[in-house]
Amino acid sequence: MSGLRSVEEHLRRVLSDLRVPEPIELALLDAQGLLCAEDVLADAPLPGFDNSQMDGYAVRSADTAGATAREPVVLPVVGDIPAGSRAPRGVTSGLCLRIMTGAPMPSGADAVVPVEWTDGGVARVRIERPAEPGLYVRRAGEDIRTGELAVRAGTPIGPAQVGLLAAVGRERVLVRPRPRVVVLSTGSELVDVGRRPGAGEILDSNSYALAAAARDAGAEVYRAGIVPDDHARLLSVLEGQLVRSDLIVTSGGVSAGAYDVVKEALSELGTVEFVGVAMQPGKPQGFGTLGPDGTPIFCLPGNPVSALVSFEVFVRPAVRLMLGKRHLARRSVRARSVQPLSSPPGRRQYRRGLLHREADGRYSVEPVGGAGSHLLAGLAQANCLIVIDEEVTEVPEGDQVTVIPLLLASA
Ligand code: AMP
Ligand code: MG
Repeated sequence: MSGLRSVEEHLRRVLSDLRVPEPIELALLDAQGLLCAEDVLADAPLPGFDNSQMDGYAVRSADTAGATAREPVVLPVVGDIPAGSRAPRGVTSGLCLRIMTGAPMPSGADAVVPVEWTDGGVARVRIERPAEPGLYVRRAGEDIRTGELAVRAGTPIGPAQVGLLAAVGRERVLVRPRPRVVVLSTGSELVDVGRRPGAGEILDSNSYALAAAARDAGAEVYRAGIVPDDHARLLSVLEGQLVRSDLIVTSGGVSAGAYDVVKEALSELGTVEFVGVAMQPGKPQGFGTLGPDGTPIFCLPGNPVSALVSFEVFVRPAVRLMLGKRHLARRSVRARSVQPLSSPPGRRQYRRGLLHREADGRYSVEPVGGAGSHLLAGLAQANCLIVIDEEVTEVPEGDQVTVIPLLLASA
């Protein structure tokens, strides 16, 4: 009807054109935050040997039978076993050894009496409670046995997985790599931050914002800076960037203006398509592939809010797909709108909002900043996007709306 492509349809086409890069092997800490790409089996048990769970005394449990505070069992202490001991001497009937947490159990002993149940004696110890067999002994393999699955392929590698991989002796692990995302800004009016803009010039904020968004999505980011509105320059910069990119994101130059060079230059190649998407902001969108490897490229509109909203809606899911993730969209919530909202017909509107959690646990939301897609300060105040569907033109005060909370570091 409007000649615009729906958000869903554009996203579907984008995602169906992407490939998940091959797994690579990384050092343990570099694997943090990525998906494991192999089934990691334990090639030794954890714990590796029977050891003490407490500081105390390794005993034959039978020797402690009947011990009470009034009538303690007194045993000679014939030595110490600190953590790291190699081959501790054994315990024979009627004797005990002082043992520290994590130290190997001596042969002959079947329980550890914690130091708190004793007088802490060094030559002789008074034991005031009987120990059951197995008391405070950690058995070899009780955490994981040899050959058991430690980390399954597809598991996100967080601190606990990093720790477990180290514990089973893995220095490196196969993971889904971070896609390398190259970000560049187009526009002859742009100058890089740190310089003073001359008449008619503005500072390039998009390459920073989009690089930050790409990093936040999990990508490894290269900010390639600014390209003026010049056909040949654009093509040569893009060609130079292809070698280090799994995905390219440009901003600017995709509308219908006379100097919208990205659209002009890339349309001619025939591999990048420029369409109107039924959304606001972010209507003009370019997507396709470049170069011999078919590197995907997103050409986003230049207005700062349009660029970031477009990233959120299309590029973030793409980066997540390339990371091997199954959940590509952020989780949305329903919230009560504390103000009436209006939205153009036939377009999905993304308004910047402030989401609050009420005392009853439910959410409410209010718009912040105006609807203009140049209003970056308004976006910076927001903590969510309010999504108003295509067919909705008016949201009465108090109605429920869909809200996408944005990831924010808390103060
Ligand atoms: P364009 O999409 O190139 O027509 O740009 C639309 C608007 O966004 C214009 O006002 C541009 O000056 C502005 N703009 C484009 N690129 C950037 C950028 N990298 N940083 C900040 N503003 C930009
Ligand atoms: Mg421009």
